[in-house]
Amino acid sequence: MECLFCQILKEEIPAKVVYRDDVVIAFEDIHPIAPIHLLIVPQKHIGTLNNLMPEDNELIGYMIQTAKMLALEKNISEEGYRLVLNCNAGAGQTIFHIHLHLLGGRQFSWPPG
Ligand code: AMP
Ligand code: ZN
Repeated sequence: MECLFCQILKEEIPAKVVYRDDVVIAFEDIHPIAPIHLLIVPQKHIGTLNNLMPEDNELIGYMIQTAKMLALEKNISEEGYRLVLNCNAGAGQTIFHIHLHLLGGRQFSWPPG
């Protein structure tokens, strides 16, 4: 079975895409846990954060810049938002193609669950 997010990138599986360029795609999470819940996914398949290479540094920065831009677009920049990267099962990673969660539109507690 091919990676679900690679299939979304190739448009083999539909998604509510809010942003796309040559480096990343961003779409709505299918099971949102906040009023705004977007996933920022690199075009490059990287399984987990453990597989990151030094040459991916720019990519990670780009994903965060994309989240910042989308937060502004969604009007949550000022009230605040949360960015989450889960690594492996212990942290709740279920799709093994790295993705940045952009969560907003409600109050978040700390520490996270
Ligand atoms: P994680 O648990 O960090 O690996 O996050 C995976 C996220 O992908 C979860 O929040 C899921 O709800 C979301 N997800 C799973 N399948 C889809 C899909 N087909 N389209 C959009 N989001 C999905
Ligand atoms: Zn993939």
